[in-house]
Amino acid sequence: MSKPRVIYWFRTDLRLHDSPALKVALDLEPECLYPIWTWDPHYVYNARVGPNRWQYLLDCQNDLSSSISKLNPRSKLFLMREGPTTLLPKLFNSWKITHLVYEKDTDAYARQRDIEIAKLAHEAGVEVVTRVGRTLWDSDRLVEKNGGKATMTQKQTIAAGDKIGNIPRPIPAPKFLPDPGELNLDFESQKPDIDADLNAPHRSSSDKSYAKIAGPNGDFAIPTMEELGLTPATTPHRGGETIALKTLAAIIKDEKYTATFEKPNTAPTAFEPQATTLLSPHLHFGSLSCREFYWRVQDVVDNYKGKASQPPTSLTGQLLFREMYFAAHAKLGFSFEQTYGNPECKFIPWHLPSKIDPKSGLKTREYIVDSAQADEWLNRWKYGRTGFPWIDAVMRQLRQEGWIHHLARHAVACFLTRGGCYIDWERGLEVFEEWLIDHEPACNVGNWQWLSCTAFFTQFFRCYSPIAFPQKWDREGKFVRRYVPELVHYPAKYIYEPWKAPIADQKKAGCLVKGDGSEFEDGQLKLYPKPMFDFNERKDLCMKGMKKAYSVGLRGNDPKVIDGSWSAL
Ligand code: FAD
Repeated sequence: MSKPRVIYWFRTDLRLHDSPALKVALDLEPECLYPIWTWDPHYVYNARVGPNRWQYLLDCQNDLSSSISKLNPRSKLFLMREGPTTLLPKLFNSWKITHLVYEKDTDAYARQRDIEIAKLAHEAGVEVVTRVGRTLWDSDRLVEKNGGKATMTQKQTIAAGDKIGNIPRPIPAPKFLPDPGELNLDFESQKPDIDADLNAPHRSSSDKSYAKIAGPNGDFAIPTMEELGLTPATTPHRGGETIALKTLAAIIKDEKYTATFEKPNTAPTAFEPQATTLLSPHLHFGSLSCREFYWRVQDVVDNYKGKASQPPTSLTGQLLFREMYFAAHAKLGFSFEQTYGNPECKFIPWHLPSKIDPKSGLKTREYIVDSAQADEWLNRWKYGRTGFPWIDAVMRQLRQEGWIHHLARHAVACFLTRGGCYIDWERGLEVFEEWLIDHEPACNVGNWQWLSCTAFFTQFFRCYSPIAFPQKWDREGKFVRRYVPELVHYPAKYIYEPWKAPIADQKKAGCLVKGDGSEFEDGQLKLYPKPMFDFNERKDLCMKGMKKAYSVGLRGNDPKVIDGSWSAL
């Protein structure tokens, strides 16, 4: 009997270590193994992927490709420039594939895509093999063991996990990889492609379309940012399994840090180095296995002589939050990603257009924030021009570097939603989606719901002050001086409230607090905007709004929300 011919489809697992799916592919003892990555709408055509995350992805791919080539110089990561639903059936046929193997993905989008792929594979007589490797437990099983419900607390998540059993230990990276087979793309000659890249000088014009899939040099190379027409990344954070494993090793070496880590005690204002691990983008791209992370930490904790921290605040506790959000997403699918239709999400009438009396032209109803005002505030928040230096510093760090500390995420998310602007969490989510290098749909959505008190967490009366909160961590304002350089010479007592500085001090510090952030200079002096509102006034208004919405008690799947009649409230 002939041996299997396998496509190994890398997606959320850009690594060789602890990959249950790769292991099962190798256990098939294939005649040939094609390690591929396909253009995917999820990454490639989605408009909300900023250059920093793109660069990170390319870093991961380059690193993986060279690791594959180290194990087998005839192999590498073959980058295929076409979406999987149209490409894979052609590859099945051309490469005489018997098995398609990949890591299970429970994201709503990915699930839909994979159902389609499994159907196409079945039609082509190709066996699909998947394994769980993206989470500590299979998210679907967590839901099942949670009584079929979305996991909404860490306690529920741990209880459900306990019913499944121990988190599996990581498996070592393979020591060798089989050759790929022939890389013919003969199907393309039957389908001339007018969009094909013509820069494939060593190929005849009849297979110009080869370039479309195999890249301009026909060698399935990983593209560069320049080739993709993207602006250069500005993040100092680089991707790839090699860096991920080195970073993890350095963390684990510091036994005290690892064993006594307590999230609420890590400073959101720390930079170079940051106070937490910064392993989240590696987990997102799968350049680090979460089980590898979990067990390396747990082993340190188990052998630690002093008092180790415990979930939910410990390092393993952080990974359990990740599990909780993944399983909630696995259960609720697309409805998890928004308020409308979501049974777990509280409905809050965020920013709305004011009602105008057509006769008098006067507003007949004031909302906590009017839509037009919300647009302006959202924009100022996004680009770090709110006039609150702490909020602006965090948002500028996010845009520039693609990663911000968890409590900094708390602060800006609370400020945008229930603790200042009263803008819909889904608008903030979109900005994070664009700029985070660790953007993970389940974690981004879940945390935005948490911070906006629409799900998971309901203590809306606990709010982050943009002044007192950062002062607790960084009295001198080093973090603000770093990311809001126009305030670098401000005395510490005004660094979080520069509008309170007397004009003479403002001039001495070389920056006037003036305007709305649309102008940057006034003669020789720099400009920093005035605060866009009185924070305490806004906070009280928001709390009143939240209180009312909570007392009405609508959820995203309520018929009144679905048909819009809630507006009568
Ligand atoms: P550590 O503190 O070192 O934690 C270790 C790992 O645990 C992280 O790498 C991460 O994978 C996981 N983790 C930690 N905290 C959380 C959490 N609250 N929820 C889920 N997983 C967690 N995390 C993402 O990975 N992607 C996102 O898109 C994302 N969006 C967020 C949006 C908001 C509004 C908020 C408040 C948080 C968001 N988080 C997100 C969660 C958290 O802020 C980051 O995971 C964490 O800051 C990453 O830094 P770290 O690797 O140093 O974390």
